[in-house]
Amino acid sequence: MTHLRPLAILGGTFDPIHNGHLRAAWEAAEALDAEVRLVPARTPPHRPPPVADAAGRTALLRAALSGQDRLVVDSRELDRDGPSYTVDTLASLRADVGPERPLVLLVGDDAFAGLASWHLWRDLFELAHVGVLARPGASHALPPELEAFVAGRRTTRLQGPAGQVVRIEITPLDIAATAIREAFAAGGEPRFLMPEACFGDPALLAPYRALGR
Ligand code: ATP
Repeated sequence: MTHLRPLAILGGTFDPIHNGHLRAAWEAAEALDAEVRLVPARTPPHRPPPVADAAGRTALLRAALSGQDRLVVDSRELDRDGPSYTVDTLASLRADVGPERPLVLLVGDDAFAGLASWHLWRDLFELAHVGVLARPGASHALPPELEAFVAGRRTTRLQGPAGQVVRIEITPLDIAATAIREAFAAGGEPRFLMPEACFGDPALLAPYRALGR
């Protein structure tokens, strides 16, 4: 049987994109030998409205990814109305890649711990594997319902198109978009937490700098 290279996605608000996202996605690409796409959410269902609109967050993401072609943007959630449910995104990707190719939903520790609150969360495992990215900070115990569901699915090597959970150890980078927004709000410049390319065009960071005025 031919080897089908996994397709992994890291979804997020990316408000704004930072090196924690980028390094996590990069190391997942290497660990899984996967194609990795970053998928910006248009209307995140789980949180207050982002500081930058979807077009602005995506423009910043594209700037952040310039100079390499291993990580790419997948903007399919921006084309849909209503909330951005990951289960819909995975169904759409599954339709694109067919039934055999492994799909991997990448989530940080914190996002994984909250997975059982996601829309149709059990269906995620019909569509994709889940790759859990180690994230520094508070430990994130799984609620019993989620732990029971994933207990028999854990593996160290993904097999098949979907249904397993793999932990991906990555360089811990304690960077969060919340802290970056706070730095802008305090009038600071969070350089070197985000790629330098993000600072190249002042229009890209204008919504964040406005927090400090
Ligand atoms: P915020 O602080 O606004 O909540 P965030 O920095 O957590 O933002 P998101 O866009 O919410 O960023 O995260 C998208 C995905 O990336 C989530 O699965 C999250 O767990 C993961 N992630 C974000 N930052 C890191 C990091 N430093 N290391 C590993 N994973 C991360």
